[in-house]
Amino acid sequence: MEKNYYVCTGCGMLCDDIEVDVENNKINKVYTACRIGVAHMKDGKESAAFLVDNKPVDETTAISEAATILKNAKNPLIFGLGTSSNEAQKLAIELAKKTSATLDDASSFSLGEVIEALLNNKTKVCTLDDVRNKADVSIFWGTDPSDSHPRQLSKYAYFPRGTEKQRGWEEERTAICIDVRKSHTAKICGNYFFQIPPGGDAEFIDALIAALAGKLPKTSYNFPPKRILELANILKGAKFGVVFVGRGLVYSLENIEHFIRLMNALNEKANFHLVPMIRQYNTRGFNENLFKETGYVNSVKFEDGTVKHGPEYSVVESLKEKTVDAALIIGSDPFSILPRSIAKNLLEVPVIVLDPCETLTSRNAKVYISTAIDGVESGGSAIRMDGVKVDFKPAVETKRPSDETVLKKIMEAL
Ligand code: SF4
Repeated sequence: MEKNYYVCTGCGMLCDDIEVDVENNKINKVYTACRIGVAHMKDGKESAAFLVDNKPVDETTAISEAATILKNAKNPLIFGLGTSSNEAQKLAIELAKKTSATLDDASSFSLGEVIEALLNNKTKVCTLDDVRNKADVSIFWGTDPSDSHPRQLSKYAYFPRGTEKQRGWEEERTAICIDVRKSHTAKICGNYFFQIPPGGDAEFIDALIAALAGKLPKTSYNFPPKRILELANILKGAKFGVVFVGRGLVYSLENIEHFIRLMNALNEKANFHLVPMIRQYNTRGFNENLFKETGYVNSVKFEDGTVKHGPEYSVVESLKEKTVDAALIIGSDPFSILPRSIAKNLLEVPVIVLDPCETLTSRNAKVYISTAIDGVESGGSAIRMDGVKVDFKPAVETKRPSDETVLKKIMEAL
């Protein structure tokens, strides 16, 4: 019998080999997924919730209230969309244009700069399948996939057999971790773990560039030069190398250009590619969809047929400076992810939340609509963290509408 595979939307890896047992429209068992994926796939709910002022209403009332809020606003903020399909993201961009909104996602304070550099062809990229088939050296920098993307090392980077790497880990692959703490991934990398002090990434990059050029690598925190020279030698010998970049690295640098200089130095001596370690399943989709439309990956403001871009249009600055007068939050919880001093300004404007889960933000919202979980209860497409498009279908049915359906209805009601 042909097997029926599903895509897990639990993280940016979008594993497409998931099997499930469904009984009475409920997922009972999940095979192949990691612990995050299993919990995610079992998270579906059959019934929908439409709330206005935390009181149940029907769908039409909730949609009409949401449309009225956006119609009355001069500068609404549309934020989130990392767990929305490409189709919903494209509608959100249209909605932002129609309502002269500020539009942003969480990449403005995480990996947005990295994605922008990739989309502007500033360094070499590869797919996760290339990593599985060819990579002999993988560097995990400021990221701990063992915790955040649990199947990363087993499926792609370290343990698997690939077409050109038949024997898997250690014998044919070297995994290196550069981080400020001894994470689970660092422990797997053993002697290839390079622990640097918080904020020490820029100096480590400079020292590594010096070592690659055969110079003595120096850091103000006296990282043993011998170890950096050893690392440079491993990297110079890589036939197919990949650097998995995480938030830990990005937060530590003033800008990503510094790291791109290292990628260039690596590519003068060897063959290195960059893959961003994206957490939410379709953050990259949002960045790419917005980039195609505007040339920017986040932090934009639509006005009179034009688009403005800059840090002042990021969620953080918009809320801090109170420049927005309403908010549509899709699949995100600013009260949990932003500093309280900034998120609290959302209490001063009418907020609409679309999210499968009740959150701190939804509890403070004027309108809350519980939407379907993509890949579990609704279908669509997404862009995997390495830029590969993935289609997904629902495993169970629900009365909860998808983000795409709700956004379509809000557009119609405007
Ligand atoms: Fe799902 Fe990510 Fe785990 Fe794969 S690694 S099963 S996509 S949560």
